[in-house]
Amino acid sequence: MPVAHTLEGPLSVDVLGRQDPELAEILLAEQERQTTTLQLIAAENFTSPAVLAALGSPLANKYAEGYPGARHHGGCELVDVAERVAVDRAKALFGAEHANVQSHSGSSAVLAAYAALLRPGDTVLAMGLPHGGHLTHGSPANFSGRWFDFVGYGVDPESGLIDHDQVRALARSHRPKAIVCGSISYPRHIDYAAFREVADEVGAYLIADAAHPIGLVAGGAAPSPVPYADVVCATTHKVLRGPRGGMLLCGSELAERVDRAVFPFTQGGAQMHTVAAKAVAFGEAATPAFTAYAHQVVANARALARSLAAEGLLVTTGGTDTHLLTVDPAPLGVDARTARGRLAAAGMVLDTCALPHPDVRGLRLGTAAVTTQGMGETEAARIGALFATAVRDESAGRRVREEVRNLTGRFPPYPGQ
Ligand SMILES: *Cc1c(COP(=O)(O)O)cnc(C)c1O
Repeated sequence: MPVAHTLEGPLSVDVLGRQDPELAEILLAEQERQTTTLQLIAAENFTSPAVLAALGSPLANKYAEGYPGARHHGGCELVDVAERVAVDRAKALFGAEHANVQSHSGSSAVLAAYAALLRPGDTVLAMGLPHGGHLTHGSPANFSGRWFDFVGYGVDPESGLIDHDQVRALARSHRPKAIVCGSISYPRHIDYAAFREVADEVGAYLIADAAHPIGLVAGGAAPSPVPYADVVCATTHKVLRGPRGGMLLCGSELAERVDRAVFPFTQGGAQMHTVAAKAVAFGEAATPAFTAYAHQVVANARALARSLAAEGLLVTTGGTDTHLLTVDPAPLGVDARTARGRLAAAGMVLDTCALPHPDVRGLRLGTAAVTTQGMGETEAARIGALFATAVRDESAGRRVREEVRNLTGRFPPYPGQ
């Protein structure tokens, strides 16, 4: 892996350090935090030095409202090329007829998908938030819950699996204009064909919010929603390992509606440094090395799930097909909030999450970041053991913290820093 660029060159932290030591110190301390603790947040990853280079480039200075060849600003000839490269790479990577790479975030992409297909007041069927739906799937605190009439489906409380009978029954009784499949914490593959069948039966659009699994899809380690969904929304910064941002994929017949829903309906100028960084990430994701990475991410998540189950934690659905898993720490005698605090003290960073019994909170872990660092199944199993030790016994935190420091020292995300 090439040496990270952040401490070298004209656009480096060195430059920032000379001009603004206060901010440089914060950046370096954050780099230290990221590299000496274990990043188990399922939505996080370490981008490559090349992606960071594109993000820190002069493309950040460019205004570019509109699309390549049809901009509202002058001087867009070169950023037009960058965006065309990003779009072409996304289309090839996912086998999609159309790609929009301008969404500023995953949530912006979902907003654009709704804007392209729905009118305020329409009924939408999506995974309920207490079962693992995202804020954009109908939270009353989010535009989605305010502007649309959301009906929530859930997972079976025993198996933890999506209850497709319930999805069908709710679709038949509520006749939604769109059905959303996708979650922030579902550890298994999503059966896109089953959702498509229900959508067709009731005449609904199918929107796949593949923010989490899209990187696995790119690496051939998860089924693709592209052949089934009318619109696919995704992030580029989770397993896909690109810059923070969103994107949309769809067929040619919806291309114009989706593009207009992004700009000018929900966004202004595109962030061309991020668009260029997305192009870099799509290029990386098309390599055999990324395919191997995506499969290793899943193998590591399975090894971690086995290790946690052996330590006595309750693993939702008994394991995982993906990069993420959720566990209930109750058998170790602590609730999820307490466990998260103990894990943080031991240098393990992760989130609490919903569980199939919605009144109980669990812990969500992911292996995208540690796999980028080069860790394999042996290390994943070790992380499971350290995790259980830290959760069980508050006084073991310091000892585990030292072991975590040791492990992260052997697997630096940016070697040479
Ligand atoms: C992460 C995520 C999003 C939103 O992404 P942001 O970039 O944080 O806005 C949307 N939907 C799902 C299912 C997600 O997991």
